[in-house]
Amino acid sequence: MIRKKILLLGDFSVGKTSLIRRYVDGSFDDKYLSTIGVKISKKLLIMDSEEYELFIWDIEGRTPVKKIPIHYYKGASGAIFVSDVNRSETIESIQLHIDIFLGVNPSSNYVVAYNKSDLLTQYQEDDFDMPIEGFFTSAKDDKNVDKIFMTILKGMID
Ligand code: GDP
Ligand code: MG
Repeated sequence: MIRKKILLLGDFSVGKTSLIRRYVDGSFDDKYLSTIGVKISKKLLIMDSEEYELFIWDIEGRTPVKKIPIHYYKGASGAIFVSDVNRSETIESIQLHIDIFLGVNPSSNYVVAYNKSDLLTQYQEDDFDMPIEGFFTSAKDDKNVDKIFMTILKGMID
């Protein structure tokens, strides 16, 4: 059994908790349930006949990025940076989240999720300019949710 710590990072209300819930429980909830403190979800999976235990860390929604305690980042093998495609400020702040994360874990890998993409029209999606390469995701429609977790896991293994 190989244990890995993965972080979800990004601004308030971009869908971090929803992406974890979709990935771990296969469900989605419209109600906003603010995460209090840190919640750690566990997911078991098998890849290349190896068993993995993923510990997925979710931080409280309203915690400002600069107030996230350093121990939250420590020991992470990877991170998923989440933004909301409809709020450009959440996309702009991704770089700051990445810089802080890489400051603690310089060789960790990461993936960027442009979440709530179900709220874009096909035209808007085709026209969308991702400042950092990533995936359109939707916790609501279950779009690319497995994909971002598998990408991060593959990156950790290689
Ligand atoms: P967090 O603060 O980053 O953990 O964000 P939450 O996961 O709590 O989500 C904030 C709000 O956005 C909630 O009302 C969710 O139901 C909603 N939400 C999250 N993901 C999506 C998505 O993919 N599509 C849509 N339409 N709404 C979403
Ligand atoms: Mg949350």
